[in-house]
Amino acid sequence: MTAPAHDPDCVFCKIAAGQIPSKKVYEDEEILAFHDIAPWAPVHFLLIPKAHIPSFAQIGPEHAALMGRIMTLAPRLALEQGCRPYPEGGFRVVVNTGADGGQEVHHLHVHVMGGPRPWARG
Ligand code: 5GP
Ligand code: ZN
Repeated sequence: MTAPAHDPDCVFCKIAAGQIPSKKVYEDEEILAFHDIAPWAPVHFLLIPKAHIPSFAQIGPEHAALMGRIMTLAPRLALEQGCRPYPEGGFRVVVNTGADGGQEVHHLHVHVMGGPRPWARG
């Protein structure tokens, strides 16, 4: 049985569906990027697949194109959102996965954090 594409109890599914507002950074048919509600850094946004994938642990070969698109969007959006250019600037990409990985929201998301230091956290 395949996992449902939308989990009605999932906060990021609700954001993807527009049921909870977010400050959008980017959107296409399968991907949404939006600002983190509790930013660690001057730039802090999340990239998510619109489909409900619980975590990075569920990623397999069938997700190669989707993950490739998410990872190629990250540097472009980082610059657009105000991260300074590499190498003086740059950004941090984090995918918390599972309890030991510190994951709190169980809908796959890629954190992109950057901007001048010091940061609020991290
Ligand atoms: P995790 O610890 O699961 O990797 O990170 C979840 C992130 O989602 C946290 O950084 C948290 O601030 C963010 N977050 C949780 N709920 C919301 C929300 O309703 N809206 C937005 N924009 N971010 C959220
Ligand atoms: Zn979800």
